Formats: sequence, structure tokens, C-alpha cells
Amino acid sequence: MPLESLRLCAVSVDLDEIPNYHAIHGLPAPQSPGATAVHDVALDRLDALAERAGLPLTLFAVGASLSREQSAQSLRRMADHGHEIANHSLDHFYDLTRRTADEMRRQIEHGADVIERAVGRRPIGFRSPGYVITDELMDVLIASGHKYDSSVFPCPAYFATKAAKLTMIAVRGRRSRSVQDHPRVLLSPTRPYRPGKPYYRQGDLPLIELPVQVTRGARLPYIGTTLTLSGSRTASLLTKMVLGEPVINLELHGMDVLDSRDGLQALIGHQPDVDIDHGRKVNVLEGVFAQIRKSGYRFVTLQQAATEVERALSSQP
Ligand SMILES: [Zn+2]
Repeated sequence: MPLESLRLCAVSVDLDEIPNYHAIHGLPAPQSPGATAVHDVALDRLDALAERAGLPLTLFAVGASLSREQSAQSLRRMADHGHEIANHSLDHFYDLTRRTADEMRRQIEHGADVIERAVGRRPIGFRSPGYVITDELMDVLIASGHKYDSSVFPCPAYFATKAAKLTMIAVRGRRSRSVQDHPRVLLSPTRPYRPGKPYYRQGDLPLIELPVQVTRGARLPYIGTTLTLSGSRTASLLTKMVLGEPVINLELHGMDVLDSRDGLQALIGHQPDVDIDHGRKVNVLEGVFAQIRKSGYRFVTLQQAATEVERALSSQP
């Protein structure tokens, strides 16, 4: 079956823990109990949401979070419920791609080791912190046995917003840990592809790139934050702008099912979606899932999506 005929939707969740959000906004480290809300609260809500919607999730875990036994246990429970666990690096360094080759390797391999120890299965998928990927990092992924990457985010609006946000944070005298990607990423395909060198061109590397979803046309970000912030009506319009794509790669964050009452008061005024009630955000997401399913899509893990994409690409001349 050619790539164009696929109708797959994969919902993934980056499990950035609350201290990562503090780091983005240049805020001091969070206090408990909210500091581990993603593993303590969000995972259960995501599991319930996935069960109601009848879909498997792909969870991108950060190795360092799993040194806390309760967090490792919650993740293991998710794996036992059939969700895929993938690699979001060891420490979630936003400047991962600017570190030495040795450190990059350590971040990827040790991240995979820790996840394997926690859930009993070695991850084969990777997503880079802050969507920043390079050819060098691709090589590390291949050498460490990863079969797919889902870090490319060819989204001009996100790119512009991130630049503006980093500027604002700097103007206010704080320092964000986030780093700006190179605009070349905007040249990459928006549909799944086999990358080459450079990674934003098609080629013959032994892994599949599953870009984070953007809409057709203006290439607006089609991710959890955009959907929950814009509400059901706009979310439905955005969804119409991705229906028909062979793979809808919808990326969420733990934050998409949390709100300030989960111990996240310190993020009020910095993280806009923390003000929206988590029940309302979940409703928006459920509406979107139903709309996608009604249009004939099958919900799969990213691993399954990568396998079917690979098959489709190899059947094409
Ligand atoms: Zn992340």
C-alpha cells in the first residue's frame, strides 16, 4: 500500500516533568507535591482517556525522572496497559545537540537503559527535547538501535513563537534553557519519510522520521497545546486541516491533562494552558479523537506507524 493510502493516527505524550517547565520559563525549581505531577497525576488521566477513546499511546519518557521509584512504577503500569514507551533522552537537556558527541551518546543510550530497566523493554523510538535534531544526533540514534525518530517539527509558527518567547524571557532578565533550532528544519517533509543527510532531506538512513504534525497549507502546529488552548470549535477546524494526511502524528504533553490545581500554581502567568481546567482540555482532546476516528483512521503506536510507513515506502519505486 502506498504511503498516501495509509490512514493512521498516533497519539504520543512527552513526559517532561514539571521542573522542565520551570526551566523553559527561567523559574526556580518547583516545590513538591506538584513537582512530579506528570507521573503522579497525568499518567492516570491519560490512561483513562486512552481507554475511553480506545487507543494506544506512545509515551516519551525522560530517563532521569525514573530514578524516583513511584514514577518508574507509574510508567511500568502504562507499559503493562499496552502503551508504547519511547526515549525522550536521559536528562532532557534543551541544548542536547550542542553537547559533545560522547555526551549525546550517553544521553541517548543511558536514557534507553533506564527506560528498559523500568518497563522491561528497550525503546526503539526517540524524540529530542525541544524538537531539535541534527545529523550527528541521527547517527547516535541509529548506532544505538532506534528504529524511528519523531523530533522534526516543520512549523514556521512554532519557530516564530519560540524565537519571540525566548526574546521576551531574555528581555525580562531571565534565562531560558530552551534553544532555537536552525530554520533548515522548516525545509523537511511534513509527512513521514526516510531521512538522508542532511536529515531534512529524504535519503536512505536505516530509520524512519515521523514529523510532529502540522496542518496543510499554513503548517500550523497540530499539537496538544494548540488544541487545548484554542477550544473545541477551533480544534475541530484544525483537525479538518490534517484529515487526509496518511499519518496524523499528534503530540501531547503531560501538561495537557493537568491544571494549576494539581500543585502547579507557580506556573500561572507563565504557562498559559495551566489556567484551563484539565476536564475541559480532556474534552477537547476526546472530541478530536472522535472526529479523526469517524474519518476512517486507525489509532496505532508510533512504533506501528513507523513499521507501516517503512513497508509503504519500500513498496514505492
Ligand atoms: Zn520534552
